[in-house]
Formats: sequence, C-alpha cells, structure tokens
Amino acid sequence: MADDVSEEETNVVQIQEPEEKDAGVTDERVKFVQTVALAEGELDSPININLTYTVPIDLPPLYFAHYEVLTKKVKLKNNGRTMVLNCTWQPKQPVPYLVGGPFTDRYEFSQLHFHWGNTCMEGSEHTVDGVQLPLEMHVVHFKTEYLTHEKAVKQPDGIAIVVYLFQLVLFQLHAEINPAIQTLLDSIETIEHADTHVRLENFPLTFIVEPFNVDYFLYFGAIHTSVLDHNVIWLISRHVMNVTDDQIEHFRYLYDVFDEPMLRNFRPIPIDVAERSVFHVCPSTVLISTLLQHLPPEDTYIKPKLCKHSEEEEEEEEEEDGEETTEQSICYCP
Ligand SMILES: [Zn+2]
Repeated sequence: MADDVSEEETNVVQIQEPEEKDAGVTDERVKFVQTVALAEGELDSPININLTYTVPIDLPPLYFAHYEVLTKKVKLKNNGRTMVLNCTWQPKQPVPYLVGGPFTDRYEFSQLHFHWGNTCMEGSEHTVDGVQLPLEMHVVHFKTEYLTHEKAVKQPDGIAIVVYLFQLVLFQLHAEINPAIQTLLDSIETIEHADTHVRLENFPLTFIVEPFNVDYFLYFGAIHTSVLDHNVIWLISRHVMNVTDDQIEHFRYLYDVFDEPMLRNFRPIPIDVAERSVFHVCPSTVLISTLLQHLPPEDTYIKPKLCKHSEEEEEEEEEEDGEETTEQSICYCP
C-alpha cells in the first residue's frame, strides 16, 4: 500500500529494469539487422532520411536503463569542436545504458554533444526528406563489453549514437522554449573558449534525453575523420525537439581551438553517399510518413532534481576529474 511506504523508500528513484531476456535476445530480426550492419557499417554518414523509403521492422523494445538516476556530477565542456556534456554517477550506481532494440549487449552512456550552423537554415548533420534542421544532439554510447569508449571506437560494433533533431519555434511561444537546452545555455558564457568547462547542478539524463522504446529510425554508417574512422550504429528519434532562434544563437558564442567563433560544426552529407537500408523500427500507429512533434507525456517526463554541490566536494573531486575528462570528453564528430 502506498501509505505504508516510508519517506526513505519514496525517495528511491524507480528504475525501469529491462527483463533479462531482452539483454541477450538474438532473434531472427536482430540477427538480420546485424547482417546489414556488417554489410553497410563502413559506408559514410550522415545521410538523408527519406521517410517514404524507410523499411518497417519489428525489433524487441529498446530500453534506456537507469537514465532517470540522478547524476553525481555534470560537466559542460567546450572541447574546441562542440559543446559536450559529461556525467558521472555514484560508484554503486550503474551508468545509464541502452539495451534491447537492435542490440545484443549493453551500450553505456559516454557523452552527449551538439551540432549547429551559422544560420537556422542549417545545423543538423542528418536531413529528413532533404530538409536540414537547425540543431542536432548526439547521445554517444559505447559497447560495455569493450570497457572504455577508446577501446570500443576501434570495434565495428563499438559505438551507438542516439540522434535528436531540433526544429525552430517562435520565441514568442514562451512555453515552447526548451528548458533542458536553456539550462545548458545559461552556463555557456563561462565556457566560451576552447578547453574550458563548467560544472552544472545535478540532474538525471532524462532531463535532456527523451527515452523511447519504439518508433525510431535505424541505420549503419561510419564517421571518417582525418584522425580516425569508426563505425556507428545510428538511432534517430522520430520526435523532433523544440529550440528557439535565440537559443541557437547562444551556441555560436563558443570559440574553437583557433579562437575563432564556432559557427558551424556539422558534417555535410557526402555528395556521393551510398544508399543503404534505413529501418523504421516498430512504427507507431501514426501512418503518415513524417517526423512527430515532441510532446513530452506528463507521466514520463522527469523534471530535473537539482542538487547543489559544495565547494569542498568540488575540491575533493578535482583529481578524479582529470582522468574522466580526458577519457570521456573526446568528441569523434568534427
Ligand atoms: Zn556528433
């Protein structure tokens, strides 16, 4: 009975734990998409998502496990190429991970970062039916089996990125201002210059990352840079998030490693990008081929649980920061 639950118990974050069978499921559909990954994983990314030609497929539900757990530390960094969010959790707390969907193993949260452009007519790396959106967020994960992001990035199935696209909304519609993005942007002036960071108040990742189980796009494509080539499993949310012109403008306050304004940091779609399979996983009952407006359901949208950290705590953690920052803040997108 709810009345019998102690205050301590009610403060425990409820975690949606996927069933054990989901972590190891290798049914025929999952095997099939893995075959496609082998065949197409080294083709270029990003791509245009042509909604009419996506291939519907049923896969086991995707789970964002432990994403609702409050962080121990949140750091926002300008790494000279993008704005990166790194997090740590209490030692006994599992790091949030993806499981189910196209995966046969866990993919652990590594970092998230953004891509934007010089105007609101550009910015996203992926386009949808030829349309480029003003902002794209990459939530980067590495396969837990490989232990670190750096080791995972050398494996063909090591990295999975969840993509959220943002559409422009009018500033006048105050309710439409994205509060999560605004929380990050409120601190952006303190990280104007490359290789600077600021610590934010704690919140669960669900404050920024909207979990989904079904109704997303899936394809396989590599990131090729001058320093590294690596394959990525791309999962693209069908729900488009909102952002205002003013919010996008704030991203352009950042400076790159050459101390030049970071005005556009998206990779354009290669001119000769190869066609490949783009799956629409478990399409919803909305039959029209389109992106969907972001409408966070009241019961699942977790508002931030802000938690002030003391200066003493900050000093204690400075040493561990060094290793964590070096290891996890690397952004492999230019
Ligand atoms: Zn990226």
